[in-house]
Amino acid sequence: MARRISLLLSLLSTVLLLATLTFWYRSRHHVDIATFCTPAGYYQGLAAQHGGVLLFFSTIPGGKESAWEIHGASTTTDDPQFIDFRDSLFAPPAERFSHLGFRLAGGILTLTPLLISRYTVLALPYWFLVIVFGILPLGPFRAAWQRRKRRRGGLCIACGYDIRASTEKCPECGAVIPFYADNTVTPVAKA
Ligand SMILES: [Zn+2]
Repeated sequence: MARRISLLLSLLSTVLLLATLTFWYRSRHHVDIATFCTPAGYYQGLAAQHGGVLLFFSTIPGGKESAWEIHGASTTTDDPQFIDFRDSLFAPPAERFSHLGFRLAGGILTLTPLLISRYTVLALPYWFLVIVFGILPLGPFRAAWQRRKRRRGGLCIACGYDIRASTEKCPECGAVIPFYADNTVTPVAKA
């Protein structure tokens, strides 16, 4: 079960890694935006722009009935409307942190005199996402490599104990020794 979950996570992060690389490449000329409403009816957004991804959390009222319905949009990196809106989110005193491409800002958004909302915006640089999504899948790959190496070496897959002289169970950890197609207990290491 744990192995299945870690495999699923590594598959997911591989997909996210490929998506990050794609949007990173696209961000040279494009800004890709996705917005949706939470079940509570508030607008949230995601934008892949030059340098990184923006996560936008807000209390702007949307429609509860259309929760999780994702709306995608695309514009160019020099779109003044997007630049103005983004810069207004980070304008002082909203910005609280800015370092190495990471940025955090939050405050009040006055959309109309009657519509005032709170927001938080977080910028994550592409290089950071590539590291995170690139490292996560390595665990299962390393485990699979270790299992393969142990099986080939005549070692217990579970604990690495030498089981070439054993049958049925590993004398060290008690793991059942699997049989292989050629009917040997475990393949003996080639000299
Ligand atoms: Zn063992």
